[in-house]
Amino acid sequence: MLARIEAKIALAKAFSSRTSGSATFIPAVRSLSSSDSAAAAAPFDLAVIGGGSGGLACAKEAAELGARVCVFDFVPPSPTRGTSWGLGGTCVNVGCIPKKLMHLAAGVGDTLRHAGAYGWQLDGGAPRHDWEALSGAVKQHVKSLNFGHRSQLMQRNIDYCNMLAKFEGYEGGTPDRPLLALSATNPKTGRSRRVLAANAVVAVGGRPSLPADVPGAAQLGITSDDLFWLPRSPGRTLVVGGGYVALECAGFLAGLGLQAEVMVRTDVCLRGFDRQMANLVVDFMRQH
Ligand SMILES: Cc1cc2nc3c(=O)[nH]c(=O)nc-3n(C[C@H](O)[C@H](O)[C@H](O)COP(=O)(O)OP(=O)(O)OC[C@H]3O[C@@H](n4cnc5c(N)ncnc54)[C@H](O)[C@@H]3O)c2cc1C
Repeated sequence: MLARIEAKIALAKAFSSRTSGSATFIPAVRSLSSSDSAAAAAPFDLAVIGGGSGGLACAKEAAELGARVCVFDFVPPSPTRGTSWGLGGTCVNVGCIPKKLMHLAAGVGDTLRHAGAYGWQLDGGAPRHDWEALSGAVKQHVKSLNFGHRSQLMQRNIDYCNMLAKFEGYEGGTPDRPLLALSATNPKTGRSRRVLAANAVVAVGGRPSLPADVPGAAQLGITSDDLFWLPRSPGRTLVVGGGYVALECAGFLAGLGLQAEVMVRTDVCLRGFDRQMANLVVDFMRQH
């Protein structure tokens, strides 16, 4: 934690010196012991840990300002289903993008159900939803975005490492601007790497977790991360929680014709959101 805070402070200092001075990024002093050739190759101006919306935006911006940047991103498989994905973080893989596509699918179904009243003749009878087709299409779209993010990093000469990174301490540099030492590994391939960087940004996001004190949850439950990548329909689903992720998941499941129940420990859903809006959402969900 201390290293994270110090790294963030170091970055803030580097950027404030850039913005208050010339328009180009000022790289930190580079002096390294030649004994560690892997790390000594060339220290980075900036190491970004996390290849989600935050980390990628930061990395790209810094590279465009002339910084030498590396990005570490690795997605440990989810505990029950082993779900993992490519570059882009939560939004691209298990958040905004698949969620919106699934809501769009639910909306298309709704339109189809009312189509007859507007004069449309659906020859095949009542529409039937195919989860496998939707989930396959969502997966393909997300993969194309993963590829797009990788090429954007390449175009900017950003060094991308599909590895879990951690701080090891300081090494080299000068007493007032020591370099940060980071080590990284890919637990799947066993590949590892060590880099030095003048600054670092921690943009590791968050993952949902299953409660350890609820019997069976860890064995039988899934999270929203798994839901978006399920190859087969989840069928009738109990959604536990009243936050926006829970309600959005319940919403598209119901819209796709599945039975979804939401279980919330208090009467308050969408805590922290505007109450009038939250009540409208909850009332709508109750009616449907
Ligand atoms: C279902 C759902 C729907 C959402 N819908 C919306 C929406 O409609 N609009 C909106 O604005 N937001 C939405 N969000 C929120 C949005 O997805 C997040 O706010 C955003 O993705 C956070 O970005 P981030 O870069 O901070 O972290 P993340 O995108 O989570 O990226 C962090 C990355 O760092 C990696 N990582 C973690 N530790 C390490 C390490 N030590 N080494 C290397 N890599 C590491 C992680 O595996 C991950 O890939 C939604 C979220 C969910 C779950």
